Amino acid sequence: MTELELCAAAISAMKNAYVPYSGYRVGAALLTKSGRVYTGCNIENASFTPTVCAERTAVFKAVSEGERDFAMLAVCGGKNGVITGAFPPCGVCRQVLAEFCPPDFPVLLITGEGAYRRVTLAELLPFGFGPSYMEEKVTD
Ligand SMILES: [Zn+2]
Repeated sequence: MTELELCAAAISAMKNAYVPYSGYRVGAALLTKSGRVYTGCNIENASFTPTVCAERTAVFKAVSEGERDFAMLAVCGGKNGVITGAFPPCGVCRQVLAEFCPPDFPVLLITGEGAYRRVTLAELLPFGFGPSYMEEKVTD
């Protein structure tokens, strides 16, 4: 799986976004160290609070399937699915990524067809709170 192939999976996932309220479509593709790809899209809700992001959809799909070791994430988004630049993960998704991924975890911010900016989780979430701060973390 190349970085461009992972980006293509995120772009494809964006098409499934359920966004009747904002029109902003977001897609994510999460590559696991085992080589599987879990995609996600954003799913809005009429009462707004239950809305979930593409990134968390992908992470939760993977974790629910027993995968916790992630290699890379690609993310894209834009109004009506038109990518006009990077669409970085929101703060909540950055926090969810920090639960499972190290600071050097690569995130590909898709900026256009065949183009992306590669950043790390530490760049997206500097001095982030993670599992290492929990003294008595339950190991499950
Ligand atoms: Zn988010």
